Amino acid sequence: MQHDPFLLALHADREIDDGPDIAPPIHMTTTYDQTEQQDLVYARKQHRTRERLEAVLGALDGGRAVAYPSGMAAIAGVLRLLRPDRLTLIGEDLYPGTREFLEAEASAGMWQLGKEGDVVFVETPSNPRCIVTDVEEAAREAHRRGARLVVDSTFATPIALRPLDLGADVVVHSTTKYAAGHSDALGGVAVTADAELAASLRAARTRDGAVPGVLETWLTLRGLRTLPLRVERQSETATIVAAWLTDRPEVIRVWHPSLTEHPGHAIAGRQMRLPGGMLSFEMGSAEAAVETLSRLSVFRRGTSLGAVESLAEHRRRADPRAPAGLIRLSIGLEPPAALIADLEGALTG
Ligand code: PLP
Repeated sequence: MQHDPFLLALHADREIDDGPDIAPPIHMTTTYDQTEQQDLVYARKQHRTRERLEAVLGALDGGRAVAYPSGMAAIAGVLRLLRPDRLTLIGEDLYPGTREFLEAEASAGMWQLGKEGDVVFVETPSNPRCIVTDVEEAAREAHRRGARLVVDSTFATPIALRPLDLGADVVVHSTTKYAAGHSDALGGVAVTADAELAASLRAARTRDGAVPGVLETWLTLRGLRTLPLRVERQSETATIVAAWLTDRPEVIRVWHPSLTEHPGHAIAGRQMRLPGGMLSFEMGSAEAAVETLSRLSVFRRGTSLGAVESLAEHRRRADPRAPAGLIRLSIGLEPPAALIADLEGALTG
């Protein structure tokens, strides 16, 4: 199949479950009839709806996908299988849930955190300042030492960035965000071009039992059909909103890879197809940020990201390391003018 995300999102699962239905069936079963001549035994091991989801997710990222019930389950599944002696983190920004997981496992003796690890983990663009890492360089550097590079590319989606093409060993996403895209299904995925590693991840998942529920699986597959369209629109609107925010006297700093002053602008230009639909901006104080947020009406106030509706969040509430006055915006599908009018009203009071 052609390497076009619009084609892949719609058709990469065509060969699985090849019945007359245009919409994929939701196989609401845990077990299968053993008298039939077929390979299915038990749903923790094999499940056609899940295989369809994985076919699309794998095709979009250019590898083999293993689906999980959440983004954190995907990260845990990958890192527990790779089981590094030492794990290296690139960058300051990190989803706090990931930091908590890495530190808890380090305390339990699973690995050490530090430099020159045998597994390198990076989030790009990062949460919440959209810092962009040079994936090609990070992969080269890791491989020079015989280490593996794992990239959390939740903010970018495979529509904006394909880390495996740039040398990453594994890419993980919280599919709760853009992939599912409608704030209604938790999920995660790990994708790798290494067939042996993908098989080991799948075997470990069968042992551990971390398989996504059937309804979430189907909702995520349904969401994926429109992922390229949504991300293109969200990225375009985020670029417009970011540019508008840079001219506001109330705003100290805007973080979006489309901006020339953003530290990741040049790398994003080289490695990303689109700058993405996430951005953040800083106000002078936590109080100013909280007041501004209280005046928004089109933006819903909430954490999470990547869905059809725009969300705004005082990031310090979720992430103690975030700058005090930082507001994170997840841009949805509303008209850019409506989002700008909402922000203008909120900033001017
Ligand atoms: N990675 C990033 C960058 C995230 O933003 C999140 C959640 O916000 C996760 C991972 C965890 O995903 P989930 O909530 O699906 O477990």
